[in-house]
Amino acid sequence: MCVSCEFHGTAAELASHIKQCPYEAVKGYISRTEGQLSELTQLLQQKDQEISFLRAMLGQVSTKVDNLEKTFEGTGTRFVRTVRRSFNPCCTTNCR
Ligand SMILES: [Zn+2]
Repeated sequence: MCVSCEFHGTAAELASHIKQCPYEAVKGYISRTEGQLSELTQLLQQKDQEISFLRAMLGQVSTKVDNLEKTFEGTGTRFVRTVRRSFNPCCTTNCR
C-alpha cells in the first residue's frame, strides 16, 4: 500500500505507482503543512482563551468605571469650578 495515498497493489505495482504518485511527490510539503496547521490550531485556541480572559476583565473594569462614575457624579463640575476660581480671582469677587 502507498503511504501517501490509498493505492493498493503488488510490490511491483507499488514500486511503479510510487514513481508517479502525485501525493508521494508532495508528501514533505503535506507533512510540513499539517505541522503548521496543528501549530496554528493550538495558537488559535490560546487566542480564544486570551480573548475570553480579556472579555471577563473588560466586564469587571466596565462595572468599576460605572461605579466610579456614580460615586463621583457631579464632583467633576464642582472640581472644575474650584480650579477656575483659584486661577481667576475675579470669579470669586463677582467683578464681572
Ligand atoms: Zn500513492
